[in-house]
Amino acid sequence: MSGHAGLPSVRWSLRGRTDEGDEAWLIRSISQKLYRCPGCHGEIEIGTEHTVVQYVLRLGGTEHHHWHRQCTEELLVPELSGVQRVPASESTQARLEARGRGKSGQRRRR
Ligand SMILES: [Zn+2]
Repeated sequence: MSGHAGLPSVRWSLRGRTDEGDEAWLIRSISQKLYRCPGCHGEIEIGTEHTVVQYVLRLGGTEHHHWHRQCTEELLVPELSGVQRVPASESTQARLEARGRGKSGQRRRR
């Protein structure tokens, strides 16, 4: 029981933390091509509502994977700590990639 049934949704994403200290953002998406879910290794068909798991790495950078909703609920969310919902507007790919760049601490303005 995660307490976040039905999330992520159009309005809400989820954010948690992995054992390694990376951020994991769960974002609702519709597949535009065929993906393979890392949870069950099954296919996610085109046009299917599913979950994008975007990691913002502790040492900088991002990576993402496409998961079945049910697989994130059963396999991934229970492994994360501090899971909370955040407005979907804060979890766009561009914003998370910028967040990953910021963490590397190498951005300078002159
Ligand atoms: Zn799956």
